[in-house]
Amino acid sequence: MFAFNALKMGESHVFTSTKSLQSVLYTEYENLTIGFLPTMGALHHGHLELAKKALKENDKVVVSIFVNPTQFNKTEDLENYPRDLNADLKLLKTVGDVIVFTPSVEQIYPKDYQNLEIELGNLGTTMEGEFRPGHFVGVMNVVNRLFEIVQPTKAYFGIKDVQQVAVVQFMVDQVKSPVEIVACDIIREPSGLASSSRNYRLSIDELDEAVLIIETLRFAREMAKEYLPKETRKKAIEFFNQGTLKIEYFEIVHPRTLEFIEEWVPGAIACIAGYCGDVRLLDNLQLLPKK
Ligand code: AMP
Repeated sequence: MFAFNALKMGESHVFTSTKSLQSVLYTEYENLTIGFLPTMGALHHGHLELAKKALKENDKVVVSIFVNPTQFNKTEDLENYPRDLNADLKLLKTVGDVIVFTPSVEQIYPKDYQNLEIELGNLGTTMEGEFRPGHFVGVMNVVNRLFEIVQPTKAYFGIKDVQQVAVVQFMVDQVKSPVEIVACDIIREPSGLASSSRNYRLSIDELDEAVLIIETLRFAREMAKEYLPKETRKKAIEFFNQGTLKIEYFEIVHPRTLEFIEEWVPGAIACIAGYCGDVRLLDNLQLLPKK
């Protein structure tokens, strides 16, 4: 009895078409606050925490599940992206009553769809942008299109993808969208590893090895007390390279512009991407307080 109550079962209403979703959002829910959580499915603990936060802060919550083809630069990654709608719906039911939107590619990108004409500059080309060319143009466009459809009051994004949050905030500012972007803390496993659907692909040994990512970030936070960013970065990379993972990048950046920094600024962030076996893992940590 107690276990049942603790796992509060909600209900999900699933919409597959833009029209049917909008017919509810723009009539019944017209005067309500709408929280929106865009996802690509393969939901885990991290997504659920964002959904819970959105449920607390809004009258209604829409969760989209859409594997956006335009943000993949490798066809095989798009094809291999895990898809299990039933499992996702089951998980969502444990957090409460959410509206699920699972559009087709044609719903999101009709024939006359035109890409946004926004130059992302450094935000689009640094770090993730360098290793995944075109990724953020895809992200920016899908988020803008989903905002057009859902017209949320607030939209929830994880700081786990800190560059994505910066790109979305930039896009919202450029198009003067009224949507409030809520940047949510990184949800971690008890080991410190950032929760991710990719973690399911790690063996038990690799799960242990992958903790090196957060250990390196924490090591950098210690080094930041004594050294400038350049030295801190060098020491953190040396620390990382003692383990078995392969580094893709480790950078210390400004929290808003994501430019590499030479001097410390409040809220400076260390961002890391690396491979554990063939699984690419991503994480970041704020090294200095915001002010
Ligand atoms: P995705 O389905 O991977 O596109 O993720 C959907 C949203 O959930 C994005 O805003 C992610 O940043 C966020 N997210 C994914 N994993 C985590 C996590 N461990 N902590 C916080 N947010 C997360």
